[in-house]
Amino acid sequence: MLVVKKFGGTSVANKERIYNVAERCIDEYKKGNDVVVVLSAMGKYTDELIAMAKDINENPPKREMDMLFTIGEQMSVSLMAMAMNKLGVPAVSLNAFQVAMHTTSVYGNARIKRIDSDRIRTELEQRKIVIVTGFQGINKFDDYTTLGRGGSDTTAVALAAALHADKCEIYTDVDGVYTADPRKVKNARKLDTVTYDEMLEFATLGAGVLHNRSVELAKKYGVQLVVRSSLNTNEGTIVKEDAKMEKMIVSGVAADTDAARVAVIGLKDEPGVAFRLFNALAQKNINIDMILQSVGRAGTKDITFTCSDDDADEAAKIISEAMKFEDINVNKEVAKVSIVGAGMQTNAGVAAKMFEALYDENINIRMISTSEIRVTVLIDEKNVERAMNAIHDKFNLGENEK
Ligand code: ADP
Ligand code: ASP
Ligand code: MG
Repeated sequence: MLVVKKFGGTSVANKERIYNVAERCIDEYKKGNDVVVVLSAMGKYTDELIAMAKDINENPPKREMDMLFTIGEQMSVSLMAMAMNKLGVPAVSLNAFQVAMHTTSVYGNARIKRIDSDRIRTELEQRKIVIVTGFQGINKFDDYTTLGRGGSDTTAVALAAALHADKCEIYTDVDGVYTADPRKVKNARKLDTVTYDEMLEFATLGAGVLHNRSVELAKKYGVQLVVRSSLNTNEGTIVKEDAKMEKMIVSGVAADTDAARVAVIGLKDEPGVAFRLFNALAQKNINIDMILQSVGRAGTKDITFTCSDDDADEAAKIISEAMKFEDINVNKEVAKVSIVGAGMQTNAGVAAKMFEALYDENINIRMISTSEIRVTVLIDEKNVERAMNAIHDKFNLGENEK
């Protein structure tokens, strides 16, 4: 059996944790299995690298950021190989170059295109544990790229698909996927199973426990995932195609505080305005999320949209150069709170119940957007945890409704 095991930053944060991971991997190896390990940078090292970079240049070139980032993962894999070696088991660490992990060219947000599995296979045939750097890749210029924050999960799933692994386990610092971030919602409950589609929405809407592209890849290649803790042996959460749903209309609450609202006031109320505005943003690769256009009055209208905190000022600048309007307003102190659930499609009143929970807490909704399996509201960032808890309670998500 071939097993891919991925361990996040907290799981390899210090010497003791590194040995803990080494031992867990060796247990698997001693069962006679082939073991491929994917690691993140130790603890919050990636954040520290960002701080170091910004101290030198507040707007560092993305290529150089990726060059810098790769040392984090490279540090963990080499130290892990040393630990396994000390425990008497042959192990080899490989970075994205050595594996040949080919990605698209976009620095900071590259996508995996192809993985050469020959090197890994050769090492496994020699009965070594193979330890691969998460998060990084190489592009056609032979430069390092990274897959976006949290991208090591995606490395693990891509490797599991490329190697036709029998198991792909994502080890982290919580016991699995919960109905809401267990650090923010006290009654959050661990889910035994969750479908790819729900997990994809959940991850995209801010449930940082899995990188959203890892879920996309897992669905595409039919890789069943297990999310579990590296600090205990509790059973985790299985992410798969047709999870037997627990008859829950709503399966979870997620929040994303990395959202900003840009309001463009007093645009001309005529055809082509929305096209010009969003086209200008698209040209500069600014991703837009929620959009709201007001009813026209006296020949003018307002358009409000959300984007990431990082992009907000640039978005306002681009619009100011491309259009005429009366005023523009950027607010970064907002956050998105969403409910996700496949059962929503067939049940009326779900959105109303979510809005009631917010009303009970006297929390104002600034924008709303929906899809078949989610409802998202934009609220003030300071109210996020209160909102999550209130919504979680309103739908009784903490209780097992089997
Ligand atoms: P790792 O370093 O192992 O990749 P992450 O910090 O990326 O760990 O992801 C784990 C964290 O995700 C948890 O500590 C938890 O606070 C957060 N999280 C957010 N939403 C959820 C959720 N719905 N279920 C579980 N954890 C969640
Ligand atoms: N070290 C990277 C990050 O902090 C990748 C990861 O942890 O998955 O974003
Ligand atoms: Mg992560």
